[in-house]
Amino acid sequence: MAVHIVGSINIDIITSLQRLPLPGETVLAEATARLPGGKGANQGVAAARMGAQVHFVGAVGEDDSGKWMVQRLAMEGIDVDGIRMLAGEATGTAYIAVDALGENQIIVVSGANARLGGCVPVDGGVLLSQLEVPIPALASLLAESGALRILNTAPALVEAKALFPHVDILVLNRPELDVYAPAAQVRAPLPGEDAEMAALAARTRTLFCREDQAAIVTLGAGGALIVRQGSLVHVPSIPVQPVDTVGAGDCFCGALAALLDEGRTLEQAVPFACAAAALSTLSHGAAPSMPSRAVVSDLLS
Ligand code: ADP
Repeated sequence: MAVHIVGSINIDIITSLQRLPLPGETVLAEATARLPGGKGANQGVAAARMGAQVHFVGAVGEDDSGKWMVQRLAMEGIDVDGIRMLAGEATGTAYIAVDALGENQIIVVSGANARLGGCVPVDGGVLLSQLEVPIPALASLLAESGALRILNTAPALVEAKALFPHVDILVLNRPELDVYAPAAQVRAPLPGEDAEMAALAARTRTLFCREDQAAIVTLGAGGALIVRQGSLVHVPSIPVQPVDTVGAGDCFCGALAALLDEGRTLEQAVPFACAAAALSTLSHGAAPSMPSRAVVSDLLS
């Protein structure tokens, strides 16, 4: 089978700082770097490094950054035939600041990503998308595709809720859950169920449009929750000392898609995705920090 990624491609301009600036404040950076990025590209690299056959659909500008990004993705073994180079557009750019504790602030200029359209539906394998490309392009693609459809609801955009009926698995982090699912009626936790997690699961279930949908809520160092209509499973993370958490969620999504494409269950795939994402926090950058399959398997053996 294959993992089809429909998503963004960016250049990341990363600055390292002692601490992040407050509004109106200027701070001096210690270093800067230019690295491959974009949620789609990061997730594609993560899935490819897990051994998946990855087909990418996206858009870059007809500029040096665009050519460089397409080359970088091809070097990962990703099929880049579905990436269009758009004349007159600039390649998407993300300005990322990372502080001494690994915390980050990110500003994204969409560029060519905002012009992606005309995506052809996919019938088999896994279709993985995020929200850095136009929602109307995703709407018809998700509605008409017969693949297992995963939507990473990042960055949080309330209008993306229109896509949820056409998704099989939602992946969202805690801040995104706060945007998409405000407080819900919470039942008493079942014996053995953690009250806080049961409350998060109750809020997550308000996003479901069909009985058979599932959602993964990622909780940073707290691991991830697998939420279904009638069940809740907490998967703890692997303890690490992160140096840079940029791209952890992307690594999680890419690894998840790769394992599901192999026919694994969510209960098998999520611990693997948590381990991959924890490892991705141990080095700088988004796409460059994605671990290989062998390193993740070693960690779990
Ligand atoms: P995002 O990167 O989208 O903000 P999270 O912070 O929830 O999302 O991280 C995604 C996943 O990355 C988590 O579910 C976890 O598996 C892993 N992860 C992130 N931060 C850490 C950390 N400090 N220690 C271990 N694992 C982490």
